[in-house]
Amino acid sequence: MPLVPDVHQAEPIPEAARAALDALLSSGDLFRYTAPQDAPVALLEAEFAALIGSKYALAVSSCSAALFLSLKALGLPRDARVLIPGFTFAAVPSSVVHADCVPVLCEVGENYRIALADFAARLEQDIAAVIISHMRGHTSDMDAIMALCEARGIPVIEDAAHSLGTTWHGRNIGTIGRAGCFSFQSYKMINAGEGGILVTDDADLLARAVIMSGAYEHNWRKHEGPKGDNSPDLETAFARWQNRLPLYNLRMSNLSAAVIRPQLPELARRVAAGRIGHDHVAARLNASPHLSVPAKLPPEMRAPDSIQFNLVGLSDDETHAFAAAAEARGLKVQVFGMSTDNARAFWNWQFLADLPELPRTRAMLMRACDVRLPVRLSRSELDLIADILLAAIAEVTGADRAYGT
Ligand SMILES: *Cc1c(COP(=O)(O)O)cnc(C)c1O
Repeated sequence: MPLVPDVHQAEPIPEAARAALDALLSSGDLFRYTAPQDAPVALLEAEFAALIGSKYALAVSSCSAALFLSLKALGLPRDARVLIPGFTFAAVPSSVVHADCVPVLCEVGENYRIALADFAARLEQDIAAVIISHMRGHTSDMDAIMALCEARGIPVIEDAAHSLGTTWHGRNIGTIGRAGCFSFQSYKMINAGEGGILVTDDADLLARAVIMSGAYEHNWRKHEGPKGDNSPDLETAFARWQNRLPLYNLRMSNLSAAVIRPQLPELARRVAAGRIGHDHVAARLNASPHLSVPAKLPPEMRAPDSIQFNLVGLSDDETHAFAAAAEARGLKVQVFGMSTDNARAFWNWQFLADLPELPRTRAMLMRACDVRLPVRLSRSELDLIADILLAAIAEVTGADRAYGT
């Protein structure tokens, strides 16, 4: 029997990282603000901004730190209400709490995207800012969301932690709102173990975030705008905020930047491979009447390194039996709402003072399954994963094992 691939194993770091890491180890120059210019972190910021199509980038210690700094940089007052989706990673409500704001949750539909009518209704409830979480890369309707928020002057922050390479009308996710935040944690498209980056076109927001990230004294001088941009916006903004903001010290180390930079040229290949692999498995799963991979929205081009699908017409017991049947065949399937500790199930965010009920989101989470599909998997490994899922659903529903083969 072929071996089930380890879906938690990352891709190797490109060879080119070794020389950069060796140079850093010999010089000991690990702090981003020691070198007068061209520190690896500063080079990463320039390269990432150019790659993604935004004016400015600020590399930090995690995507959670980037989300926190975005909220702080908006200058929201204490207890400001921030609207977030009810389906996201616990880091998102946590960043709101960390910024002394109050998370307000909205419903998410069974296609894992924000339920727009509920979003629009809650937007009227004294909302000061919005975080859109493109959960597992699933992009909510950004045209509708931006129109609703712009009409009310409400700033939008995009949590694109797990969406690097996803586009909306050809534009990179994370560049549509006022700020976008990405993660370099190991389970994301680019792996540095830990790390994050904030992108924006707003010089004032960038300047505030840079200073609060820990650019003490005049270290902000080592942050620049895009090449060829001679406008004084950034310099003016830094001068405006000098000595007026707390320093949270959420900087990125040169070591992380040296691991990330050689992966940037790999991104296009990883995105293309991930999409082909995902769509192949999705087509096979959709052949079963009991498995449903929701369609993407038309303007979206996905960049998946995992697959999500809903179990159709199964009871709670059958849902548990399906996960057990897959595990018995060597594949771990996570049903978001079925474990006692899943950090993406809103009822487990018990650190929130006011934990709301979201019936629609809850119903989705009780049947939504999550399987990692690292972009390095071969066609036969992807087929093996699809075979296991189809065999598991056939076992549970007693249906013909030949579905989709
Ligand atoms: C991973 C992830 C985060 C947190 O990223 P860190 O870099 O680990 O802080 C936030 N939101 C989503 C949707 C994620 O997938």
